[in-house]
Amino acid sequence: MMSRLPENSPLTYRLSILLLFLAMVSISCWNGSPAELAIPVDYHDPSEVRSFFENVEAQHPDIARLETVGFSVRGEEIIALVLSDNPELNEQEPRVRLTGTIHGNEIISGEILIRLIEELTGRYGTDPDIKNLVDTRYIVIIPVMNPDGMWDGRRYNDHDVDLNRNFSTAFVPGGSHGDVAFSEPESAALRDYSMDKNFHLSATFHAGTVIVNLPFDYARMSTGGDIPLENDLVWELGKIYSMAGTFLANPDILADPDVDDGVINGGDWYIAYGSLQDWSYVEKGCIDITIEIADYSPETEEGIDEVYAYNRESLLAYIDAAGLGVSGYVEDGGGNPLPGVAVKVTDGDIITHTDENGWFHRILLDGEHTLEFSLDGYISATETVTAPGVLPSPVILTPE
Ligand SMILES: [Zn+2]
Repeated sequence: MMSRLPENSPLTYRLSILLLFLAMVSISCWNGSPAELAIPVDYHDPSEVRSFFENVEAQHPDIARLETVGFSVRGEEIIALVLSDNPELNEQEPRVRLTGTIHGNEIISGEILIRLIEELTGRYGTDPDIKNLVDTRYIVIIPVMNPDGMWDGRRYNDHDVDLNRNFSTAFVPGGSHGDVAFSEPESAALRDYSMDKNFHLSATFHAGTVIVNLPFDYARMSTGGDIPLENDLVWELGKIYSMAGTFLANPDILADPDVDDGVINGGDWYIAYGSLQDWSYVEKGCIDITIEIADYSPETEEGIDEVYAYNRESLLAYIDAAGLGVSGYVEDGGGNPLPGVAVKVTDGDIITHTDENGWFHRILLDGEHTLEFSLDGYISATETVTAPGVLPSPVILTPE
């Protein structure tokens, strides 16, 4: 057989194989199919996150509930796992949102949240501290905010938009920010989901360096730009994360003169417009911080374990910190709960609202504060409170 082939056969054969290979690669790019090899095997890709959630929900139906946040540009589902006792109910518990992989290539940021879920559910039955944490909080974990970007191993979504520049606070249109705020289905979905849930505390995880980055991203505080009026409280929460466990022992921590105990106001590091954390703070009265957990995503199981170990105590301490402050109820004079009452501290800028049961929770530094309660059609009221604590009786608002 071999002797009957033309002289140039091996070369022709190799060229044909090469051309066939190139054609397959091109077709794969043209039809937009996921570049699955971008995700190392030790990570959960978006479809594996779903199977993992389904399994957790089946194993722990009393404390775990899978929810859909929305869908990506390519129609990939963005999913959340709710962890709480009675996860299907709106109980009067501090609400925490933890989000990963908003930048699709920073995949360690979602994988440590998977590790956290494994720990919270795996130890719920045997560790009283873990059980108490899950029972007394409403914890929502969204490991993959940008599934299209994760499949493709890239920062942006499928419209080339950086989702962490597409929120409406200090939004600047154009380029990778998007033409208008919430132009992207992923950011709009997180907005709507968060409007519905009324989170009190949240964090979004990244992998560009190691630092706890606080609002505001849009202004440089050290040169006179806007600062959160409740910056002391925001710093307290940032330090609860950075000072717990071994976070500060990470040798890759950001070197910057404005860093203190591993914490910095975002704009003092670099200015970013339209970020999720600024939107959460300004529009939702939710203290939201951005946590850079590693300067790259390690490929191996051991590398993931190492990053998780640097953050494990911090994650637990931060979820626990959602319980700081004061909670209570607001009613009208007839004993009816008042939903939608704005609750703020005098001289503060974090505005939280009562839920449908008239219940509010306001994260505060320990000590005495004056809270202001206001609702259209009612005479506003103030109340002196001591944190931590629970108001012994409802605040009463009288109709105008
Ligand atoms: Zn990032």
